[in-house]
Amino acid sequence: MYIYNSASRKKEEFIPHTEGKVAMYTCGPTVYHYAHIGNLRSYIMEDVLEKYLRFLGYDVKRVMNITDVGHLTSDGDTGDDKMLKGARREHKTVMEIAKFYTDAFFDDCQKLNIKTPDVVEPATHCISEFIKVISSLIEKGYAYEAGGNIYFDTSKLEKYYIFNDFAEEDLEVGVREGVEEDTNKRNKADFVLWFTKSKFDDQELKWDSPWGVGYPGWHIECSCISMKHLGEYLDIHCGGIDNQFPHHTNEIAQSEAYLGHPWCRYWFHIHHLNTDSGKMSKSSGEFLTVSLLESKGYDPLVYRFFCLQSHYRKNLVFSYDNLDNAAGAYQKLVAKVACVLDGKGGNVDKAKYDELIKGFRDALDGDINTAQAITAVYDVLKSDADNATKYKLIEDMDYVLSVGLIAAAEKSVKSKENAASDIPDEINELVKQRAEARKAKDFAKADEIRAKITEKGWIVEETRQGTVIRKA
Ligand code: AMP
Ligand code: ZN
Repeated sequence: MYIYNSASRKKEEFIPHTEGKVAMYTCGPTVYHYAHIGNLRSYIMEDVLEKYLRFLGYDVKRVMNITDVGHLTSDGDTGDDKMLKGARREHKTVMEIAKFYTDAFFDDCQKLNIKTPDVVEPATHCISEFIKVISSLIEKGYAYEAGGNIYFDTSKLEKYYIFNDFAEEDLEVGVREGVEEDTNKRNKADFVLWFTKSKFDDQELKWDSPWGVGYPGWHIECSCISMKHLGEYLDIHCGGIDNQFPHHTNEIAQSEAYLGHPWCRYWFHIHHLNTDSGKMSKSSGEFLTVSLLESKGYDPLVYRFFCLQSHYRKNLVFSYDNLDNAAGAYQKLVAKVACVLDGKGGNVDKAKYDELIKGFRDALDGDINTAQAITAVYDVLKSDADNATKYKLIEDMDYVLSVGLIAAAEKSVKSKENAASDIPDEINELVKQRAEARKAKDFAKADEIRAKITEKGWIVEETRQGTVIRKA
């Protein structure tokens, strides 16, 4: 498999540190509000990557943090803690807010068929790990105390900027909102590892530390949680493109300074979902959530399908028109899948399977090209394979894509059957007579009965699933 590595800015063959095993880390949500569908685009694409690695036979361990402290309104260490802002907004405690929005996040994930990572760790559970790593960084000369806070000294590194020849707008996020420069910093790029009471006195959650009562910076959380559960070598680190700088740049700085060797091999960044008016936001314009889409009648899996139709390294524009187009394509695909349901559990033609799975694998081996992988699904349905082989292919492909093709097809067949139960007795009787006439090869009579059925406002037709009766 080849994936684009943002750190080398090249597509590279994926070779994990330990053969057959993958250590994968994902920056989790900051749980001060609902996730918007842009955030969820990132988690959908990461889910496909994880499931494809599993499909290939890797033993994947995936870890995600929950940011419940330390993420300030500016990623550049200024402003309020987002959690505190959320708590004030809703007149609740930070922990109440964290619990509520963590649950809401996983509800959304479930609706979108996003698998829960093997380990989910809230930052507030790891304070002793943060203190251990920060203490070591101070000892090694990579961190210093100033004005009551502990900072990472970026001048001690040979190379600090890793991802930085990206477009300015991708980097702007670190210094946005015209906030004041922190005068405690020795170098402009230095960042906070630990805040103490000298700053943000009203912070609700605080812990004792060798440097005074305070709380951790956002960046140190991900480094420590990753190392705690995945050890010293990380294979893939994922996140939205806005996290490249400063968040991921800082994670690399502090992890490698602490470990004394390279840390993460592949960086997988998902580009943004935008609206017509620009970047998606929780504070301006329509706050686009999964629940909002549902309230407008959209199946969350249609949104997942919409995301998969585009490559993760391209910005994607959300509009209801675009979503409607995806919904139409999804329904057509489901209808085609319904025609192969009778192949379930049948004998699979191994040679045909191998021939048809190749297109799917080629698509995903080529930097997770999900749009091409969907084309491979259509190719299976169009092929001359038997239904048992088609069914197995769709089942395996949908394990990775997770757009619920088989479940949706079964549901549509069921709802047609239920609709059939509303058919008046008189029509059912005529349909029965027509079937008998057909059986007796009396096609003239069969046609006559069909005309009668049509006259009464019903349509009877033969499909691959058998006779279907519906209202005209
Ligand atoms: P947050 O909850 O703000 O920490 O963000 C959660 C994830 O969503 C991070 O990986 C972000 O990089 C990502 N993200 C934020 N905005 C967008 C967007 N508009 N499109 C895609 N991913 C995003
Ligand atoms: Zn992170």
